[in-house]
Amino acid sequence: MSVTEYRDKFLQLARYATAEVAEDREKQEYFLEGLNDELQYQLMNHTFPSFHQLVDRALFIERKHQEIEERKRNIKKLILSEAHDTAYSIHPGSTKMYHDLKERFWWYGMKRAVAEYVAVCDTCQRVKAEHQRPADLLQPLKILEWKWEEISMDFIVGLPRTQKGYNSIWVVVDRLTKVAHFIPMNTTYSGARLAELYISRIVCLHGVTKRIISDRGSQFTSRFWEQLHDSLDSKLRFSTTYHPQTDG
Ligand SMILES: [Zn+2]
Repeated sequence: MSVTEYRDKFLQLARYATAEVAEDREKQEYFLEGLNDELQYQLMNHTFPSFHQLVDRALFIERKHQEIEERKRNIKKLILSEAHDTAYSIHPGSTKMYHDLKERFWWYGMKRAVAEYVAVCDTCQRVKAEHQRPADLLQPLKILEWKWEEISMDFIVGLPRTQKGYNSIWVVVDRLTKVAHFIPMNTTYSGARLAELYISRIVCLHGVTKRIISDRGSQFTSRFWEQLHDSLDSKLRFSTTYHPQTDG
């Protein structure tokens, strides 16, 4: 019950016990008795000139308390989102997420909060739906990997040269989860070298993507795509040249 609700109820009942609350001081005492422990504790050592000032003070404390709770909720939400769906996290399942988080944070009910957060995550739900589709026997080579099917790539160039000779960063982002890889490179690298680098840094972790989007334009993209497939062995190539999704 909120303080406002309690006050209204109290005043209503007080009408039937006018003798008991005839004096303001007594009215205050009765009112205090019915408050929850925390409010009682914070109010009992003060004297208030009037019943109404006591009620005002109780309302003020209640409001402050609600503000603090709201801030706590927001911090928890931030921690959960940081651990689940920002650029640096990979939509872990709730068990893994809880174990990772537990290393640094704890609050009462955290395990349940983690499970609930994952259960309503849009991306995770879409992925689950995708996996529950009945397997099509005519497409035995369909890649089951759901992440990294569609990536975008950008290059951050014009950086000071490092000791190892890098002067730019190749940013590869999974379009679904927004997980990013940052690969140091040099702008003089050939397409073949980029393809090699891509295989060692991305393909070995996530498999071959179905679609690449780059702000370098379609010519760069298709050339890179070709180089990439030249560098991959024929078996892998065979299983990935069929792109049912890309043409609609
Ligand atoms: Zn998720």
